[in-house]
Amino acid sequence: MARLVASFCQTGAVMESLIVTLVIAFVILLVGGVTLLGPRLRGRRSGLSGGAGTGVDAGRGATGTIAPPEPSADQAAPAPLAPAAEAVAPAAPEVERPPPSAGRMVKLRSRLARSQNAFGSALLSLLSSAKLDDDTWEEIEEILITADMGAAPATQLVDRLRTEVKVAGTRDMTEVKTLLKTDLLEQVNPDLDRTLHTAPHGDRPAVVLVVGVNGTGKTTTCGKLARALIGDGRTVLLGAADTFRAAAADQLETWGSRVGAKTVRADREGADPASVAYEAVSEGIASGVDTVIVDTAGRLHTKTGLMDELGKIKRVIAKHGSVDEVLLVLDATTGQNGLRQARVFAEVVDITGIVLTKLDGTAKGGIVIAVQRELGVPVKLVGLGEGADDLAPFEPETFVDALIG
Ligand code: GDP
Repeated sequence: MARLVASFCQTGAVMESLIVTLVIAFVILLVGGVTLLGPRLRGRRSGLSGGAGTGVDAGRGATGTIAPPEPSADQAAPAPLAPAAEAVAPAAPEVERPPPSAGRMVKLRSRLARSQNAFGSALLSLLSSAKLDDDTWEEIEEILITADMGAAPATQLVDRLRTEVKVAGTRDMTEVKTLLKTDLLEQVNPDLDRTLHTAPHGDRPAVVLVVGVNGTGKTTTCGKLARALIGDGRTVLLGAADTFRAAAADQLETWGSRVGAKTVRADREGADPASVAYEAVSEGIASGVDTVIVDTAGRLHTKTGLMDELGKIKRVIAKHGSVDEVLLVLDATTGQNGLRQARVFAEVVDITGIVLTKLDGTAKGGIVIAVQRELGVPVKLVGLGEGADDLAPFEPETFVDALIG
């Protein structure tokens, strides 16, 4: 019995020391836990009270010292992204199918009517006046000169018409109108070769260089021409060699992308225009397009500067072969100023054709006659408005019909 009691007492002592150890361990754990969790709980409280976490808080969270605040209900974690394969591809820009270029010139009549073309009606009204004396013929000549036709062609036309009216002995307006149209047409010179050389040479594309002063509609013309050629079944590449205006390259790229024509452009403003032109033609050869159209800078800084710039562009392109067309873009509304520009360009580069823009905005169509005489180069294209397809191959008969009505 005594052994049993002794053993019980021994077990009781062990139990007692075990309980004491457990209590001490619990207290240590409790104190440690409060010490460790205290700052975390404080941090959460400051995030909640301070609203959105500050950058500092976020920074700290990122270090891992403080756990980042858990997203609230309205800041739910973003839905997982769909796997790449399932992502919806962005819609490819729709490529337009422009209409062919033929027959567009007929629009001129209505466009001129819109811009109150006084030229034809003023002429016809004078020609139908009761007496066709010297004063009346002088007035007719003045109208022709005011229409930017140039003094010499105006005098020539009046002298001829005067004789014809006298010889025919007629004052019938239909007949007089026919005589006037015939004489005007002769001044416009329907026999000039207005072919636009845009056909490729074997495996090399035709190269069209577009020059002119800024604001005349040069870049727009490049875009419209690309469209017209594509409408006629050709493939086209554009070269943005006007590297002085980033906007010009953007503008050209927009025109091109609408009809699926690639644009080669510089990676920075002020890059060498000749190297862009060279790259454009290289790319045109590599991709096998029919025509490369190169837009150039139109700063009329100094004649030497212009000559250097355009000369260099032509020379580097010539490493690939010849330049097929050098088109000078002129704004028909600028009259004598336009003619002065034409003279400067003609001195620095061999122009093969003229593009007369904004013919819709002027009753001074006579510039067609003046500029052809001045440069000895035909008007090949005309701009008839701001619409994408308002560029037309020039047709002398349609032009005269539209002027006289
Ligand atoms: P750039 O500086 O010579 O390249 O000139 P842009 O191509 O930027 O054209 C200048 C402005 O002329 C633009 O607002 C064109 O829309 C406008 N323009 C170009 N061609 C014609 C045209 O034939 N008729 C009319 N009314 N505006 C035109």
